[in-house]
Amino acid sequence: MADGFAPQGSIIERDSAMAGLWEKLKGSVTPIEWRLQAPLIAEINALKAEKNAVVLAHNYMTPEIFHGVGDFVGDSLGLAREAARSDAKIIVQAGVHFMAETSKILCPDKKVLIPDLRAGCSLAASITGPDVRLIKQRYPGLPVVTYVNTSADVKAESDICCTSANAVQVVEWAAKTWGVDRVIMLPDEFLARNVARQTAVKIISWKGRCEVHERFTVADIADLREAWPDAEILAHPECPPEVLEAVDFAGSTAAMSNYVMTRKPRRVVMITECSMADNVAADAPDTEFVRPCNLCPHMKRISLENIRDALVNEQFEVTVDPVIASRARAAVQRMIDMPPPVTPARYDLVKARHHVDVELI
Ligand code: SF4
Repeated sequence: MADGFAPQGSIIERDSAMAGLWEKLKGSVTPIEWRLQAPLIAEINALKAEKNAVVLAHNYMTPEIFHGVGDFVGDSLGLAREAARSDAKIIVQAGVHFMAETSKILCPDKKVLIPDLRAGCSLAASITGPDVRLIKQRYPGLPVVTYVNTSADVKAESDICCTSANAVQVVEWAAKTWGVDRVIMLPDEFLARNVARQTAVKIISWKGRCEVHERFTVADIADLREAWPDAEILAHPECPPEVLEAVDFAGSTAAMSNYVMTRKPRRVVMITECSMADNVAADAPDTEFVRPCNLCPHMKRISLENIRDALVNEQFEVTVDPVIASRARAAVQRMIDMPPPVTPARYDLVKARHHVDVELI
């Protein structure tokens, strides 16, 4: 459960809880912003209690959303799984549209709301269900592994989903289960290329890219090293492989967060979306964060104001055709049923065992 406060408590309880939240957020929120945000946080938390609703807040939400109103926080799949276990009637997805679809797929009986219907994703938009059907015709007999950052239509055409935390494990499982040495892995070109370096399985992929992570370059890493020679640099595997080769650690959002919380580096750089570092920094006061981030314009469409409006008006509901949802659920469930990695996967491209690149469709 993220830090919130008891909406039904006394003014004093609320004030002391809000004071605790302010202590946590003051590194990334200004006092002027806080004066506007605090009443909205109070209003949202009261609405959640009144309507039996939960807010799922992705790692890329701004800190006042992530720490102020998020009941479950983390990556998209973790959020949907937590939501499925809760008895809430309404889910507000503080994230982008494909995440709301995943929540609906896993929680078909709950009302799933997204505060802004325009919150999309360059990666999810790069491929459609009909594209996947054509790919399967071109490569018959090969399993299709699909990143969770895709629409329900694309998941429905897939054999199994993966996240950046388990992609290598899922690719190897699919090759073994189908008895083949190649798999189709969609749609992120860079994630596929980074996975290909960690496994003997050959990968056929697609030219989808995350518009946030594709912009980081090796020159950016060199500049950071020169300016902050003692900083430990972490990157997300949606970045290009040459960027991953230049950093100290690469892994999913969960793996990066885990790295900071357990190793407690004195100074760190997170090569990912801006709010990720802000949210981890709020829980890691002894680490100094250098923040050369890129903003995701889609994630930033979500605000305290439109979360409040989503709860008040029960808008905008996200639905998935039941037939599509059932097929997509099978692909997601197959991944969920796999044993979880002991620790979130690390992408070690310097010590990579394999130097075979992907075949791009
Ligand atoms: S950060 Fe990248 S993958 Fe995530 S929603 Fe934004 S564009 Fe999509």
